[in-house]
Amino acid sequence: MRRVLVVEDEKSIREMIALNLRMSGWEVLEAESAEQGLDLLNKQGPCEAAVLDVMLPGMNGFSLCETIRRDNQDIGIIILSAKSMEEDKIRGLSIGADDYMSKPFSVSELLARIEALCRRVGRGKPAAQEEDEARLVSGAFVLDRKSRVLYKNGKSIDLTQVEFQIMELFFHNPGTALVREKILQGVWGENYFGDVKIVDVNIRRLRMKVEDAPSSPQHILTVWGYGYRWNS
Ligand code: CA
Repeated sequence: MRRVLVVEDEKSIREMIALNLRMSGWEVLEAESAEQGLDLLNKQGPCEAAVLDVMLPGMNGFSLCETIRRDNQDIGIIILSAKSMEEDKIRGLSIGADDYMSKPFSVSELLARIEALCRRVGRGKPAAQEEDEARLVSGAFVLDRKSRVLYKNGKSIDLTQVEFQIMELFFHNPGTALVREKILQGVWGENYFGDVKIVDVNIRRLRMKVEDAPSSPQHILTVWGYGYRWNS
């Protein structure tokens, strides 16, 4: 059964999320603090997805997200925040969250986003007929679709699922300017409700990982007023 961790100290919200997830066929690990959430992950093993509230007693949701992401690049993480502050959103995404929702939120939209995240994770596993395409090569870079790892000059670079899929899109379209909306659609799916800023945040994070000097990128180039272009 697919498993999701829900960390939220407000009991009514946590129970509402958990109830809806269980009705959709998820096994739910519920925690009222970050510490309890980490404990559950340690004891029960990994989850496919995590829903993390920002405002928690003790360790907050941002630190929790960072801690989970440090050991697990595969898990889909959605941050919940009472604030709709743009900087909060950017911060959440830049420390490894895949998506972000502001309170109050619709539970059905949260469910849809968790499903979308996990479809992306599942989609990444190459089917038998794609075996020959398991490794995508672009200049000094190799994208190993089996292990979901990017190599630069033979050195491995860990990517989140979202970062990996952006790289897949780049590798399939080398030298082509990709409009941000196309990246959003290609990676987050046709029915994604979020805005294109999420693309910029992930690109910033990717540059930190793949560029020698992230402030003057040589590989992930900005196409002003349009989007991004991959240059191996
Ligand atoms: Ca809270």
